Amino acid sequence: MERENQLLNPVVHLFSKCPNCEKLIRVKSNGQELYIEEKNCQDCGFEFNSGEILQNLIKNTIITQAVSSASTLTGFDLAVFIFLPVIIFFLFVFPIVFPVFIFIKASFFFLTLTYLLPVFVCIRWLLKFGRWQFNDEEFIESKKNVKSTLKLWIVTHIFSIMMFLYKFWV
Ligand SMILES: [Zn+2]
Repeated sequence: MERENQLLNPVVHLFSKCPNCEKLIRVKSNGQELYIEEKNCQDCGFEFNSGEILQNLIKNTIITQAVSSASTLTGFDLAVFIFLPVIIFFLFVFPIVFPVFIFIKASFFFLTLTYLLPVFVCIRWLLKFGRWQFNDEEFIESKKNVKSTLKLWIVTHIFSIMMFLYKFWV
């Protein structure tokens, strides 16, 4: 029974920050509402205001979500080193061995479409989190990284389309 309860109602750890010294504060839930046990910060003695604490909780949650999804997204950067050689292979090496024009075109479009995914995900990330102006180092860093990932993929796609045009129209 106890185990079943834990499975259905996992303990979710919610954290907020002291508005004064940024110490993490555990926010608890009794199943109906959120509350904090301490009235004052244990580190700096700052008197908590529950509205402010909940504001910080929401902010923290958004930052955690943004930072973790940005790190997954930018972790995909290295795929550029797979994408470009494969495109070059299909455009310039493969036709020598097996010259089927349609197959090359199809592969090119399939690959390009697959690798457009990071572009769309970066744009979605920026639409979702870009408008927040949090003064959090990790968050600012994540925003910068997502923007560079977006640029990286746009440049890569422009380059691959130029190679394609060079191969077939020049
Ligand atoms: Zn404090």
